[in-house]
Amino acid sequence: MIWDVIVVGGGPSGMMAALSAAEAGAAVLLLEKNRMLGKKLRITGKGRCNLTNNCSIRDVMEQINGEKRFLYRALTAFSPDDVISFFEERGLPLKTERGKRVFPVSDRAADVAELLVRICREYGVQIRQRTVERLKTDNTGTIDVLTGEELIRCRRCIVCTGGLSYPMTGSTGDGYVFAKSVGHTVSPLNPSLVPLISDDPCCARLQGLSLRNVELSLFEDNRTLFKKRGEMLFTHNGISGPIVLSASARIKNGHARGCHVLIDLKPALDERTLDERILRDFAKYSNKYIQNALSDLLPHAMIPVVLEKAGLDPQIPVNMLRREQRKHLLAVLKAFPITISGLGSMDEAIVTSGGISLKEIDARSMQSKILPGLYFAGEVLDLDAFTGGYNLQIAWSTGRLAGLSAGQATFSSD
Ligand SMILES: Cc1cc2nc3c(=O)[nH]c(=O)nc-3n(C[C@H](O)[C@H](O)[C@H](O)COP(=O)(O)OP(=O)(O)OC[C@H]3O[C@@H](n4cnc5c(N)ncnc54)[C@H](O)[C@@H]3O)c2cc1C
Repeated sequence: MIWDVIVVGGGPSGMMAALSAAEAGAAVLLLEKNRMLGKKLRITGKGRCNLTNNCSIRDVMEQINGEKRFLYRALTAFSPDDVISFFEERGLPLKTERGKRVFPVSDRAADVAELLVRICREYGVQIRQRTVERLKTDNTGTIDVLTGEELIRCRRCIVCTGGLSYPMTGSTGDGYVFAKSVGHTVSPLNPSLVPLISDDPCCARLQGLSLRNVELSLFEDNRTLFKKRGEMLFTHNGISGPIVLSASARIKNGHARGCHVLIDLKPALDERTLDERILRDFAKYSNKYIQNALSDLLPHAMIPVVLEKAGLDPQIPVNMLRREQRKHLLAVLKAFPITISGLGSMDEAIVTSGGISLKEIDARSMQSKILPGLYFAGEVLDLDAFTGGYNLQIAWSTGRLAGLSAGQATFSSD
């Protein structure tokens, strides 16, 4: 048998591609190496799945790293509004939370995965547990998909194997190898949305401490790469948390050496107001050592670290502190410095930056410009975005467009 469409990879982009091709009338085989489909999807959003962002196409494009314009056609074909209707109309109620992040009302990522599996089956998609090892083509207009045990032939093949991050979920970069084997270019692959590593001993000392409402600025030498207010936390070897993960997406090609971070611990107060606030606290605690006079301003664990960075002896009595020393303290509160030595590993990255070059893919169909009949969708492409549901939106939009294009093409040419 020659399948109309074979989809390799049963993650969000693969399931969306498979059901869309089947909806277009094609006979579809979905091959997934894991026993369970959507293994990564089931752990997204801390198990709640932030499946899209309730915003406009233009807003999604703002959140994409790299060649945003490439995604325009796919987003028009399947926008955040379409994603929301798609799931709700098929029986999965959704809710919109802070930052327009969309989640299932059930707070269960597994419900999203199971709904997709159900729709795939309803449309007649055949699902087999197989690890695809190679794609082969001659000039007969078909593509051979080789698994360990068999050769399966198709007219169109959609590669949805994901990136390299969280490899224990099955995303081990196989699609890059398939793409290269037929002549595609793969741009450098790096972890993104990942913790930042630092040799600064303050991180280990503050391990587990989380800071809300701070403003993090990331610099490469003196150039500002990123600035945002939000939540972060210290880890045994660096920093993590939402604003740190977003900052990591701005570090290009994994070159984190030479980067440093400044944290404004009191972004709501300008320097003068903060100075007045410190003076008030010092008046209140005038008979104490400075280490005991900052507890209204800072979490307990931070006090010795801030004093050390400001070059202040923790046991200076507050009433003996000189103006210049207070200025040092103020400077550290407004710009707590941390040098960055690297990015966290692929094992802990939310997404992979880099991937199959978009120049070699037709943005109107997701079809390869190198090998007709071959399509790509999802994280395997050189596309990634910030947090907020945008990475899954990329998977849904590119998967939908690839599936519909491959499914319809099967019909128009046969
Ligand atoms: C912890 C975590 C939380 C996240 N949370 C969110 C979130 O809340 N919102 C959001 O927008 N994004 C989130 N993401 C990112 C999002 O999960 C990915 O962008 C998305 O899963 C990519 O979908 P995909 O279908 O392209 O790839 P994947 O989900 O990686 O799926 C690829 C599939 O292909 C299979 N496969 C690979 N190679 C082969 C082969 N040779 N043969 C057969 N099958 C193969 C894999 O087993 C896998 O099932 C999160 C990621 C992580 C790691």
